[in-house]
Amino acid sequence: MGLPPPLRAQAIRTPTGSRSEENPMRRPFIAGNWKMNLLLPEAVRLAGDLRERLRDLSDRDVAVFPTFVAVEAVARALEESPIQVGGQTCHPEDAGAFTGEISAPILASAGASLVIVGHSERRHVFGESDADVALRLQAALRHRLRPVLCVGETLEERESGRTLEVVERQVRSALEPVAKDGLAAVTLAYEPVWAIGTGKVATPEQAQEVHAAIRGMLRDMGGAVGEDMRILYGGSVKASNVDGLMAMTDIDGALVGGASLDADEFARIVRFEAM
Ligand code: PEP
Repeated sequence: MGLPPPLRAQAIRTPTGSRSEENPMRRPFIAGNWKMNLLLPEAVRLAGDLRERLRDLSDRDVAVFPTFVAVEAVARALEESPIQVGGQTCHPEDAGAFTGEISAPILASAGASLVIVGHSERRHVFGESDADVALRLQAALRHRLRPVLCVGETLEERESGRTLEVVERQVRSALEPVAKDGLAAVTLAYEPVWAIGTGKVATPEQAQEVHAAIRGMLRDMGGAVGEDMRILYGGSVKASNVDGLMAMTDIDGALVGGASLDADEFARIVRFEAM
């Protein structure tokens, strides 16, 4: 099966932003989402392997997102390293009767400095609405966790020409309630649902189209956010395709799932090394 169709030309309404090399706020950011993988000792081992491979890193940001039970041990294993640690979601409330959930202050107390919110698996498997995602993002900001807000369309939404409508709704519903100074802590990740875990990476041009449109939405929101917010691409990123994606003007990094579980592969992705 081929890739889903490109967006309709008339839907693209915004110019591109400045290149990350010209804007220090947009230095590359590569994040590894470990999802529900790795036993605790395996997670600690992977953290140690990444620490070794990425010890000299200074020109980009790197983070890993282990399962909740591994956050503390992975954060310890990565102390004094350039690699940061985050949680995979957080509940809107700080504490209470929410069996199975985790709160932002608990994540922060375990050593997390970031948290993913609105990942497509949370939206589509666990039924998180735009309103839930917005509250989770606000909880993260209250506790000084830097959120990575995921947005992206399903295959059906792309094929029916609704990609930008869906992405705009997801971006605005999460970011409009946030005060301008809070937005500086947010990173966006555009992850087309049809490209996640499927091996079907969007072409650099398909991704750039949406990233440029998102940058336009951010500019409409005013302030520095349009120029400064990093927008990562996610969906079957590997060492073999990362450099093509990173060559695009509005792609500031990658959110990597499956390929982040292999230390060699992830280290190559971080360095944009095909081989
Ligand atoms: C993800 O889960 O955010 C993701 C992009 O997964 P994968 O790289 O496996 O497609």
